[in-house]
Amino acid sequence: MKVCVVGTGYVGLTTGVSLAFLGHEVTCVDLDQAKVDMLTAGRCPIYEPGMEDLLAEAAQNLTFTTSYADGVPGADVVFVAVQTPSAADGSPDLRYLRSAAESVAQALDHDFTVVVNKSTVPIGSGNWVDAILRDSFKQRQKEQGENRPEGTEFAVASNPEFLREGNAIADTLYPDRIVIGSDNPRSLEVLNRLYRPIINQTFTPPTFLSRPEDVNAVPLVSTDLASAELIKYAANAFLALKISYANEIGQLAAKVGADITEVARGMGLDQRIGSRFLQPGVGWGGSCFGKDTKALIATASEYNLEMPIVKAARDVNQRQRAIAVERLQDELRILKGRKIGLLGLAFKPNTDDLRDAPALDIANSLLARGARVKLHDPVATDRFRVEQPELAPYLSPTIDELFADCDAVVLVTEWAQYLELDWSKFVGLMRSPILLDGRHVLDADRMRRLGYKYLAVAG
Ligand code: NAD
Repeated sequence: MKVCVVGTGYVGLTTGVSLAFLGHEVTCVDLDQAKVDMLTAGRCPIYEPGMEDLLAEAAQNLTFTTSYADGVPGADVVFVAVQTPSAADGSPDLRYLRSAAESVAQALDHDFTVVVNKSTVPIGSGNWVDAILRDSFKQRQKEQGENRPEGTEFAVASNPEFLREGNAIADTLYPDRIVIGSDNPRSLEVLNRLYRPIINQTFTPPTFLSRPEDVNAVPLVSTDLASAELIKYAANAFLALKISYANEIGQLAAKVGADITEVARGMGLDQRIGSRFLQPGVGWGGSCFGKDTKALIATASEYNLEMPIVKAARDVNQRQRAIAVERLQDELRILKGRKIGLLGLAFKPNTDDLRDAPALDIANSLLARGARVKLHDPVATDRFRVEQPELAPYLSPTIDELFADCDAVVLVTEWAQYLELDWSKFVGLMRSPILLDGRHVLDADRMRRLGYKYLAVAG
């Protein structure tokens, strides 16, 4: 099928490259010329394991452009995967979506095109995009008079994205489920056909990513527009609150002398609960959980509904970042003048995404209290220099330099590189060997044997 993807960020790029790999003819449109140039040269502008390999394997079906006119005409499906950040009042800022929809409408030229919201958009956005498309299309027909494309039809659908950065390709080719929603049955048929190779797992896996043994077929949830839109927010908010719940229990565990890691393990083995997303620590970050929980609360308030559970999950998450700083203060007493190293800046391992990363809040809070900080990340430093110029001078080029003369080091992001460090090598470099495990992932007894004063955010 002929596919156009608007926006080549984490989501749009993964969607476009994966669909091209499956044999669809894909054109990716982005307004950012530098990104388009890089992608055309086969290089990936984001850090995402396997993406450059998949780009190479899909290259013959894939084009990158800044022009909608190269991608939209004749497309069976147009995905819109632009960013939807939070506006000042917490509701999603839909400027990018509006502009993309207007541009799509200007270029539509096919007997039937499904325009799909792949971005995470509030409930009702499908209808909103449909109205924008119809208005812009009518305007264009008026302006173009006789030259208007005859028989052009389109319908809007929602196809929320559930990929995890760092695991994006596997999550796309071997997802837990695919959700499609539309009030137009023909759209659902088109999307069903588009995703057949994934639903039935009939494709030959990429050379670098074999199919997991337990994946034979992928469940398809084919539903109405509003339900598909709500599924995405409901799922993200649930994952966010699961983490916050583990952190809330973690604070109590610390008071009563229980080990939160053992508590979480004991809870997670109950299949009704499940072990994932029960990891205590400095909490969630990233581009999605923060803004999506905020958006859910904002949408609910339009209907005079409170979302007390979701609000509490957000508060607990913010508190965890503050607790990390308080733990250091309790231990060091005075933070002014202390040198504190943060290992890990990206909001989680295997990505260079720094949006709402806990490390940013922790670093800023330490600086505000007069401490000096040193920062390290194995992958995200280039992006960090661009996005966080005020914190960039605190970057340490090596891990040795980060540890040197530090009063405390905090493991903020559990990169494999950090877990595999020869920790015995660094303890002697520190002024005082305080190690705060912000993710509860290090072996506390081993660290103590090596000479560290091991602390965890909870316990
Ligand atoms: P991103 O910021 O990485 O990428 C957005 C891209 O869209 C950028 O390359 C930008 O240049 C481009 N763009 C903006 N306006 C455009 C326009 N009018 N025309 C063409 N291109 C345009 O964003 P992302 O992380 O890929 O997220 C996209 C959406 O997917 C968001 O709604 C997000 O909530 C959702 N989502 C993200 C993730 C994730 O892990 N990142 C997971 C699931 C869902």
